[in-house]
Amino acid sequence: MAMFTVVRVRKEWSADRSHRHIEGVLTAANVYYDCQQVVASIDAGNIWNTSLDGYSARITTLGYCPVPSCLAKPYLKTHPDSWDLDNLENLPEG
Ligand SMILES: [Zn+2]
Repeated sequence: MAMFTVVRVRKEWSADRSHRHIEGVLTAANVYYDCQQVVASIDAGNIWNTSLDGYSARITTLGYCPVPSCLAKPYLKTHPDSWDLDNLENLPEG
């Protein structure tokens, strides 16, 4: 089992251009993983957490982007849904 610390996210425009959603993450080691790779890693038993300014949250998987009608998949979220600093959606982009 390995542990990964996510410090930044990359977002892309949705197919219908209505919103931007996460397409991948960057770890503290500055390695990029797309959502598919992170989900496969979590499913394999590895631990993924966000980390920002001393706060962290566990990353879990989601079947689809949470925006209704968006079919981007798979997707990632933090658990529990929490305040700004440790929320995956609010990490700095890079
Ligand atoms: Zn979306």
